[in-house]
Amino acid sequence: METLPPETNLVLYFVAALALPALLVLAVSLAKNRRFHPGDVFVASRLSRGNRIFPTQVAVTPTSVIQFKPQWLGRQEHSIHISHVASVSIDTGLLLSDVIIETSGGSEPIRCHGHHKGDATRMKQLIEQYQTQRASAPATEVAATEGGATRDCPFCAETIKAAAKVCRYCGRDLPPA
Ligand SMILES: [Zn+2]
Repeated sequence: METLPPETNLVLYFVAALALPALLVLAVSLAKNRRFHPGDVFVASRLSRGNRIFPTQVAVTPTSVIQFKPQWLGRQEHSIHISHVASVSIDTGLLLSDVIIETSGGSEPIRCHGHHKGDATRMKQLIEQYQTQRASAPATEVAATEGGATRDCPFCAETIKAAAKVCRYCGRDLPPA
């Protein structure tokens, strides 16, 4: 086998030096963009501003709405309890929709940016459906949740029942008490 001229080696090193970080970036973004939550998760369109590399994910659970934004270092997570949702509105642009969730607790509204229209409608429907379910739940059910021993969720710091296996606020699996 004939040896390559030194210039070719240089080019090869150069290509490798460029390709390695690119592969690393790809691997990190693939790992970070996995669905962060089971159930109904809505991923923002990569066409929208701020969503190209790490699209924001929004999980709608029977107890809470969680907005999840991966970052190069760590992640950002913002959740509100279903019972604190005051209203859900959809702001539709030319291609994509924003879902704006106003809260009653005085905390900042969650603005879910850049969703497909169908997803936005589904998010609104789900949230309103869970709100109705909660409102019509028998009072004894709510009382049972409120009574008894409690502890703080290690993930979202909300107060939950000591025997809970899943956090009712953030929906995560909990270590045994
Ligand atoms: Zn929690």
